[in-house]
Amino acid sequence: MTPRERLRIAVQKSGRLSQPCLDLLDRCGLRFRRSRDGLFCFGEGEPVDLLLVRDDDIPGLIAQGVCDLGVVGRNVLDEYSADAANQARLQLLQPLGFGQCRLSIAVPQDAAYAGARSLAGQRIATTYPRLLRRWLGQREVAAEVVTLSGSVEIAPRLGTADAICDLVQSGVTLAANQLREVECVLDSEAVLVAAATLPADARRDVIDLLLRRIDGVTRVRGSRLLLLQAARGCVEAIMAALPGATRPTLLQMDGQPGQVMLQALCPGELGWKQLEAIQRAGARELFVLPVERALA
Ligand code: ATP
Ligand code: MG
Repeated sequence: MTPRERLRIAVQKSGRLSQPCLDLLDRCGLRFRRSRDGLFCFGEGEPVDLLLVRDDDIPGLIAQGVCDLGVVGRNVLDEYSADAANQARLQLLQPLGFGQCRLSIAVPQDAAYAGARSLAGQRIATTYPRLLRRWLGQREVAAEVVTLSGSVEIAPRLGTADAICDLVQSGVTLAANQLREVECVLDSEAVLVAAATLPADARRDVIDLLLRRIDGVTRVRGSRLLLLQAARGCVEAIMAALPGATRPTLLQMDGQPGQVMLQALCPGELGWKQLEAIQRAGARELFVLPVERALA
């Protein structure tokens, strides 16, 4: 295969990770023109193109060198790497902070469950046979793993399995199928994946640039920048009402001795109640600003 000059990223074509992934790349300053068949996106600024495919194909495409990077759930990456033949082919470059879910074992609502031992001799349906087998093996539980390609949650009702091991986010699907979650096999989120060895040419610089930008976006996602004025002596009480905030920057206010302007990055929402508490602690002129990106 001739070496490529442009970086190619495999992204899920249509599914839960597609839009959040395209949004992330957009926030990283990457713009694309989509091909007519919708399978390829040509990068207009940076030398980065996208290949839009089924998420199951992404690890293989990276391992084969067709793509340099890919975005998949940790569940897909770990299932792929759990195959001895693929063990050291891929590396996780960065968790991306979206697509959170867990791979869980669920049993019928009325079934008795008293720990992993209860699964001995049971048939468990899953699309993640390697991860399930590993989990069972670690607990020395001998169960039968029934590998399905989809619609795992209906297997117990169809009588083809006694329990399931499937992805869960809210638990609504489990409840709708009269199942209850009893064990978490894996906590998952979308991750950026690459081959074990990164390209040693110009693509490497683009990967580094992308990683810095992704970090700049994910680090401040959901954060707010708080600006306010206060007497120097009130700063400690104000910061006590802002758990998780960064150390504040304090600027001496011109012509107002003892008065400062305070700036702090706060994780998550800053609700009215919290702002009112800060105001009672001595803050004035409060401003809450959304934060889009950061560069250290
Ligand atoms: P494809 O057609 O690309 O194979 P898919 O049906 O395998 O799509 P999706 O259902 O779109 O995949 O899920 C993609 C990923 O989203 C999962 O692998 C998982 O990491 C993540 N995810 C987040 N929440 C859930 C959920 N509730 N159920 C399933 N996957 C979830
Ligand atoms: Mg899939």
